[in-house]
Parts: sequence; structure tokens; C-alpha cells
Amino acid sequence: MPSSTASKRLVVFDFDWTLIEADTDIWVIQGQGGEVARQQEALYGTMQWTDLQDQLLGQLYDQGITRQDLETSLRGIPFAPEMAAALRLIKSQGAELCIISDSNSFYIDTVLKNHGLDQLFSKIITNPCHFDTDGRPHVTRLHGLDQPPHHCTMPCNVNLCKGRELQKLMDSQTWDQVIYMGDSTNDFCPSTRLAAHTDVVLARANMLLEKEIKSHPGAIKAKVVYWNSPADAIAVIHTLFGVPCRDIPSTIHRA
Ligand SMILES: [Mg+2]
Ligand SMILES: [Zn+2]
Repeated sequence: MPSSTASKRLVVFDFDWTLIEADTDIWVIQGQGGEVARQQEALYGTMQWTDLQDQLLGQLYDQGITRQDLETSLRGIPFAPEMAAALRLIKSQGAELCIISDSNSFYIDTVLKNHGLDQLFSKIITNPCHFDTDGRPHVTRLHGLDQPPHHCTMPCNVNLCKGRELQKLMDSQTWDQVIYMGDSTNDFCPSTRLAAHTDVVLARANMLLEKEIKSHPGAIKAKVVYWNSPADAIAVIHTLFGVPCRDIPSTIHRA
């Protein structure tokens, strides 16, 4: 049920270690074990991350790993019921929900559909993944080599400046409040885009985003609220949206 104060809120989420309790790229590849898992560790930092995941998925395909096998793996990813409830609460209050993630479209769609949450999001901005006619997955960079470099001076990856993507969403219409939720170094740039007084960064405590925020005092204009666990996160979100626990629509308890 929409809130009576019909303010326009944009809530943007990172995916890995924010909405889910894992990193999708690590979960899928390490879950297969063997040489491919060893290569993910050995090649970390030696080549661009998205290109590496594409290469590793190609190797899994060559070994006979199918789309269905990958989906089975993705269905095992831990998704806290509290986080699913938080998403439904935010949606019930009339806010617009988006994801900006360095994972890929196949992983995110599969996980969200598995939990019946895919319809909550109006936009998912991430590295595209498609399966060719032979069934081989291909992951490509969101910010591809066909485009000029984004030249962001923040700690953003070459394939994705989350701040730039968030800015496009913020500029697409007038918002009363923008909330950004993330955990990692590449969530710092979007956090700096939020406005003082109205906007809120929901930063996962004891993770790299907190370290980045604390080592750049003054860089974040918006209010920063730290959260530790999905149980913490839903409590923070109740407060932000002014919805006492007893008023949560019963449908959000489905997960
Ligand atoms: Mg993350
Ligand atoms: Zn950036």
C-alpha cells in the first residue's frame, strides 16, 4: 500500500554482498571447482575481471557445463529473507528500485526470478550476458571497448563507473530522495553523487565501502548509515520509510 506522503524516491542497490550474501562471479566459478576455479584465483588482477569471467564461462561450456547447471548453482546463492522483505517494503511505499552491479544480467535475473523479486526493479544496469545458439554464455563489459574511456578518477572499474550510471538515473527525473546501498570500493563513486540533506548512503559496515568513505572525509555529502547484516538493513529501511514493523504488509513475509 503506497504511503500517504507520495514522495518520489529512487532506491539503487549494488547486488553482490548487498542484496545477496555472496559474490556471484566467485560463487558460480568456485562452485564448479577444479581447474577453472583455480584459474579464477590465479588470474585475478592479471586481466580485466569481466573478460576473465567470460573466458572462464567459456571453459566451463567446453567442459559440458550447461545453462541449467549454472542456474542450479545460482539458485543456491544465499538471499536473506530480511533483504527480500526490505525490497518488498520499499516497493510497497511507491519508490522506484534499480540495481547497478558489476555482476552480469544472467546471474542477477536468475537469482531475482528464483526469489520472485524480478518484477520489483524498473532497471538493472550491469554487464550484459547472452547465450549463443550453441548455448555458450558470453559476458561483455557494460562500458565496452567500443566506447571512449569513462575517465572517472574515482576507484571505478574500466567496464563500469557506477557513479556515471547513477547520475543518469538521478537526472532522468526529479527525485525527492535518492538512497544508494552498497558494500564495496566501486560503490564509493555513486555514493559521492548523492545530495546533502535529503539523500542517504546505506553502506555495509566493515567492508571496503566503509574504508573508502572513512579515508575520504568530506567526500560524501549525503547522510551515511552503516548496516551489518540483512536484519540490520531491514530495520534501517523501516526507519527511513517511516513504517513501523507492525505496519509491514503481510505479503512481504513470503520470502
Ligand atoms: Mg557488492
Ligand atoms: Zn566512477
